[in-house]
Amino acid sequence: TDTPGNGAQTASDGLPPLRDIIKTFELRAKKSLGQNFILDLNLTRRIARAAGPLEGRTVVEVGPGPGGLTRALFMEGAERVIAVERDERTRGALDMIAARYPERLKIHFGDALEADWPSLLGTQTGRAIIVANLPYGVATLLLTGWLSAEPWPPWYSRMVLMFQKEVAERIVAQPGCKAYGRVSVLAQWRASARIVLNLPPEAFTPPPKVASAVVDLIPHTDPSPPCNPKVLAQVTAAAFGQRRKMLRASLKQLQAEPEALLEAAGIAGNLRAEDLSVKDFARLAMVYERAFLRRA
Ligand code: SAM
Repeated sequence: TDTPGNGAQTASDGLPPLRDIIKTFELRAKKSLGQNFILDLNLTRRIARAAGPLEGRTVVEVGPGPGGLTRALFMEGAERVIAVERDERTRGALDMIAARYPERLKIHFGDALEADWPSLLGTQTGRAIIVANLPYGVATLLLTGWLSAEPWPPWYSRMVLMFQKEVAERIVAQPGCKAYGRVSVLAQWRASARIVLNLPPEAFTPPPKVASAVVDLIPHTDPSPPCNPKVLAQVTAAAFGQRRKMLRASLKQLQAEPEALLEAAGIAGNLRAEDLSVKDFARLAMVYERAFLRRA
């Protein structure tokens, strides 16, 4: 098996165990880059399997690090992996994987926040799958970037992403819950979202302070009701920015007299942000843009 500590000289892909790779290439984890590695290939293979059948598919991975998840993606059948990594120290480790799977691993060294995904994908046909054990410092920003992709449906057909558990819970939270907020609305308007795996800190090397969870997001073809995602971001920022206030007060940030907007959207002004469904927010954004922003 690939279980670390069993004395295996090679893993089942014929490459050295990740612990040895980390030693050979001196990949001491950097906190500033959110480096918490998963060394157990059985575990990274479980994450890869959560992304569904990978045969013939192109996978986009952010932060391959020493390559535990990258290797798992190939072991589970991915045709091609396009990886964006900020830490150039990982080059040697990733080159070994590229040599093991010729022409199938493309690595870009740079900041994933600045990546132009469609151009990294090139002219290949079919939508990609995003699979990543994300660096926690930029995880939410990366997610909201992918969720605001244009045109829609986006260039990816699925995202299977590791977050801090607390962030994962916010992504999937339902109205009325404490965790329900901006990211719940932005994610669930455009995608279905569910937690598929929970991991304790000890699953990582070094262990982070908090637990983690993998979220599976599948984009809706036609998010409903339709609205402008930038306007939805504005409306949710205003509403959840002052989440304990009633909407007739919190939405003053958008509109000097929000009562007319709320009435046009059919929403009672004495409700609070957490009382609105995802559809309510999308309707509010649609009405705000059509009747208020364009008129202004
Ligand atoms: N995929 C590996 C694994 O599962 O063991 C490593 C995951 S580690 C949580 C996050 C990785 O993201 C690190 O390798 C780190 O260097 C990389 N990283 C951090 N910030 C990044 C950024 N802005 N763009 C691309 N990669 C980044």
